[in-house]
Amino acid sequence: MTTTENARKPSLPIVENFTRRAAVKGGFATLGAAAFVAAVSPLRQAAEDKSAAEFMQQHYTELSPQQKADVIARLEAEAKENYGADVTIADDRPIPGTKFVYAINLSVCNGNGKCVEACHKENNHDRDTNQSYIRVLEMPKGTMDMEKGNTTYTGAVPQDDKFYLPVQCQQCDEPPCVDVCPVKATWKEEDGIVVVDYNWCIGCRYCEAACPYHARRFNWKKPEVPADEVNPDQSYLSNRIRPVGVVEKCTYCLHRTRRGKLPACLEACPTGARVFGNILDKDSNIRWILENKRVYILKEELGTKPAFFYYFD
Ligand code: SF4
Ligand code: SF4
Repeated sequence: MTTTENARKPSLPIVENFTRRAAVKGGFATLGAAAFVAAVSPLRQAAEDKSAAEFMQQHYTELSPQQKADVIARLEAEAKENYGADVTIADDRPIPGTKFVYAINLSVCNGNGKCVEACHKENNHDRDTNQSYIRVLEMPKGTMDMEKGNTTYTGAVPQDDKFYLPVQCQQCDEPPCVDVCPVKATWKEEDGIVVVDYNWCIGCRYCEAACPYHARRFNWKKPEVPADEVNPDQSYLSNRIRPVGVVEKCTYCLHRTRRGKLPACLEACPTGARVFGNILDKDSNIRWILENKRVYILKEELGTKPAFFYYFD
């Protein structure tokens, strides 16, 4: 692309004079040779797996409707080839006048973990590593400090001296994960959802380190999902099966919520602890909760401004 062509383009999310290759080169200087080789080995595998078309693909926000259609057709064909599944990948865009917000009633959550399981299946996570975007923390009563929680609890729930704190991406209004991305592969959309272009991410993991809520996941290996377990109802920025060597995260199930459905974790919750909706809708339950309950946010002192709230009855 020439400089003249660049000058004609609308403002783009790409850092000027900065290529993804330059970012990798910069990483070499920062980490040192051995650490850098270890850190990028999934990237090397990913690069080897890349088709020419994928390698040449532009950032999602730069693609024309026709280019998007071509990319999506390619990804659907790859899903068939790699996973034996017939999938449909949509390009779900934000609904104007919508700002999505989530809240959890911690008096009701009993730590059963059905939300974790539902996220795993809905979002086509790797079966071997049992990934999910949600962690449920077993917490000592009397604190909201999530660093005091235990994510590996086993046995009967709920325990009398504990409460349960589900944590996933807080869709921060001031997201540090977005600020640190050297190639602008992650950004916040108009409805508040923070997304990743999985075909643009270089897997440097800066965002994972910057997230104070441990909400991002890195694909160390090619995700394995049996054909009959693949959720075929997918979206480009959401639950399509992500490539090895990239970072991924909760998108409030945008492939559902931007179509008027509820997030999978909410539908799976047997206790009714979860409330989700459009805060701009004055008649919504979520609006009522924020106006009438004493709500908490995690790590308020960091100024990340989560769009995710907690409350007690
Ligand atoms: S919770 Fe973490 S991943 Fe999600 S928007 Fe905030 S900083 Fe980013
Ligand atoms: S790993 Fe995170 S910071 Fe690095 S390119 Fe991907 S989205 Fe951006």
